[in-house]
Amino acid sequence: MNDNEIKALADENIMQTYKRFPIVLVKGQGQKVWDANGKEYLDFVAGIAVCNLGHSHPGVIAALKIQLDQLTHVSNLYYTEPQAQLAKLLVANSFADKVFFCNSGAEANEAAIKLARKYAHENLGDDKFELITMKDSFHGRTMATITATGQEKFQFGFTPLLEGFTYVPFSDLNALKKAINKKTCGVMVEPIQGEGGVNIPDDKYLQGVRSICDQHNILLIIDEVQTGIGRTGKMFAYEHAGIEPDIMTLAKALGNGFPVGAMLAKDKIAQSFTPGNHGSTFGGNPLAMSAALATLQIMLEENILENTRKVGEYFLAQLKKLKDKHKVIKEVRGKGLMLAASLEVEAADIVQKCMQKGMLINSAGGKTLRFVPPLIINNKDVDQAISILDEVMEGK
Ligand SMILES: *Cc1c(COP(=O)(O)O)cnc(C)c1O
Repeated sequence: MNDNEIKALADENIMQTYKRFPIVLVKGQGQKVWDANGKEYLDFVAGIAVCNLGHSHPGVIAALKIQLDQLTHVSNLYYTEPQAQLAKLLVANSFADKVFFCNSGAEANEAAIKLARKYAHENLGDDKFELITMKDSFHGRTMATITATGQEKFQFGFTPLLEGFTYVPFSDLNALKKAINKKTCGVMVEPIQGEGGVNIPDDKYLQGVRSICDQHNILLIIDEVQTGIGRTGKMFAYEHAGIEPDIMTLAKALGNGFPVGAMLAKDKIAQSFTPGNHGSTFGGNPLAMSAALATLQIMLEENILENTRKVGEYFLAQLKKLKDKHKVIKEVRGKGLMLAASLEVEAADIVQKCMQKGMLINSAGGKTLRFVPPLIINNKDVDQAISILDEVMEGK
């Protein structure tokens, strides 16, 4: 089939939940992808902050191929080694004592919400069930996670929402303090808001949230679905703040493209889940586990975090220069390789023109360009990206 036939077939048979760009991608390697006509693109989307080690990473592929020949699925009625090994590695490299495996970010957050409620019922009292989340946050597309998401555009048309959520502005400790009441059992927050526009909070924000949670004896749930697995230059973004959450969620980059999610917690909280309380047929299946195990091992062994910090700093510096040159850029910001440029205009036209010139980027919020490239990129890739942006912004 040629690319037009593929697009027509898709539009005819797939529900219209996505606004897609008019290209058909067929191959990926490192920081590059190719479309059905053989055109090459520098990929600064990376499957939306998913392929952190780049496309087709040989180490991840090798692990998957071995597991594929061995055992692909047996359910959680039985033990499997890849699941045990991945849990051990996650526990060893994070604040957490225990892990629950699922298949996506929304599912990880569902699990976190359920665990927080269960813990609160058992330890804080039956009248404590309310979670405070942030305006402009994003936590997923299930009913509970669109309720947790502080953006009406994701909730519109789907009411009634779940009970027991309230929202406060991001990076506003006073608003958070004021919102806490006798029903509050926890706070759920992204270290940097991804889908909401790459919003970076004040330096001491997460520390402040931690101490407010401690003062009120409520749970801190950190959603690291986008920021986790090296994206910001640390394995998990909470590490920058020198604090620890009580519960953390992961997905996106955990399997470098293989679907997998995880919810991690301190022992004291994890104990509230007992057999039968929660589960997932596919969660923790051997294929997903071996992809994630390989991803984490490579991330830890190959200096990916240091590369992320160095290239991220270079990228931000180049974006600042670009901002001085082009009035259309209002502000640039970023941490590690999670970066953004706020524009005076809608981002869609620039995204489109970059694609024509062989670079994939996307927008987060109407007027923000988001850059979440694979963490293996180098300064030359940044130079290429900057030069494409420079051409596209000429005359804007
Ligand atoms: C993408 C994302 C989610 C949802 O993940 P899915 O795998 O699409 O369900 C949740 N939280 C954050 C912060 C995200 O970026």
